[in-house]
Amino acid sequence: MTQKASTLCVQAGWKPTNGEPRILPIYQSTTFKYDTTEQMADLFDLKASGYFYTRLQNPTNDKVAEKIAALEGGVAAMLTSSGQAANFYAIFNICQAGDHFVSAASIYGGTYNLFGVTMKKLGIEVTFVDADASEEEIQKAFRPNTKALFGETIANPVLSVLDIEKFARIAHKNGVPLIIDNTFPTPINCRPFEFGCDIVTHSTTKYMDGHAMTVGGCIVDSGNFDWEKYHDKFPGLTEPDESYHGLAYTKSFGKGAYITKATVQLMRDLGSIQAPQNAFLLNIGLETLHLRVPRHCENAQKVAEYLEKRPEVAWVNYSGLKSSPYYELAQKQFRDGQSCGVVTFGLKGGRDVAIKFMDSLKLCCIATHVADARTCVLHPASHTHRQLSDEQLLAAGIQPDLIRFSVGIEDADDIIADIEQALSSIKQ
Ligand SMILES: *Cc1c(COP(=O)(O)O)cnc(C)c1O
Repeated sequence: MTQKASTLCVQAGWKPTNGEPRILPIYQSTTFKYDTTEQMADLFDLKASGYFYTRLQNPTNDKVAEKIAALEGGVAAMLTSSGQAANFYAIFNICQAGDHFVSAASIYGGTYNLFGVTMKKLGIEVTFVDADASEEEIQKAFRPNTKALFGETIANPVLSVLDIEKFARIAHKNGVPLIIDNTFPTPINCRPFEFGCDIVTHSTTKYMDGHAMTVGGCIVDSGNFDWEKYHDKFPGLTEPDESYHGLAYTKSFGKGAYITKATVQLMRDLGSIQAPQNAFLLNIGLETLHLRVPRHCENAQKVAEYLEKRPEVAWVNYSGLKSSPYYELAQKQFRDGQSCGVVTFGLKGGRDVAIKFMDSLKLCCIATHVADARTCVLHPASHTHRQLSDEQLLAAGIQPDLIRFSVGIEDADDIIADIEQALSSIKQ
């Protein structure tokens, strides 16, 4: 019987045998010892599996990746040094100069920049599409050299909910994998593979770590995409790799092809490994993910409902509210309809009032972060997107008055009391 998420959070990954440490050890070692030259040579040729250098693989990291793979229902996973590295590797593993991919336009700002600016410099082009558009409309963005479709389950900070089944249909009709950044709902609330997604990425920096301790990322492969069927599109996976004596990943590693290539090629050459210390801390975060996420959502629901009733509030966006255009989709795609702990809203009076409100908060702190135990708040127009004019903000789907409120796991009454006193201060 497959185990439930709660059991996997606590026990998946590290499974000590007789007399081994109960807790996942930190393999604080750059290197690993072998008895013969031949044993080491076989590792370099990928004829045998084993550890030789932590830039490629480390046992602590692998056990944590295994836990995340189990939670997502995937066949293999790898940790990366950040969420940015995870999204870069996820695309770069199957795209090279001259290739193209399609992405939802409403995605995390850092990913938008990575795709639209930095990857363009590498000769990889992206077309951004409105994820809420019809299948016919999105189809128009595809070209013969398109290699992937990308989106976020819940976009940060716009909080739009992606119709994963719709995106999977479009991707598969075009013979490319669907890659989804599942950072905000986490596998506790949504498992994109169940809706046809092929590859999942995470910024583990957020709810998975959950305590704002470590920056990290993860890529999980469902093992479901048939690379060989589209042999010509994905030569990097299906054709011989000269840097490994002509081995072809799909032939040698089957369902493990995608993650193996990302490990032995991209990690080898680009080296965005997660520190084993950080993987250890991430693992502790994961042990309570199933307890924390529902509490974040319960508190966020209360905060959203409270805000909706206040006369000072112009609008509230949270998919748990019946007023949300994503309410139905959230009910279908998310466990108990629960999305995440992040709520966005606007105050009447715009930018200036938003700043006054935020400066008046006491319990909830201003931080460039989301999704950790402590309630924190950010005003994109004054912080992450401060170089943009109101018009540019709107073009990026961010209202100038948007306040991103990341609801923590404190008592909801105390969070609401803090909002209440800050709201009363803006009237003065
Ligand atoms: C934060 C975030 C990222 C980037 O992750 P880092 O760990 O900060 O590099 C990517 N996607 C989403 C949805 C995020 O929220």
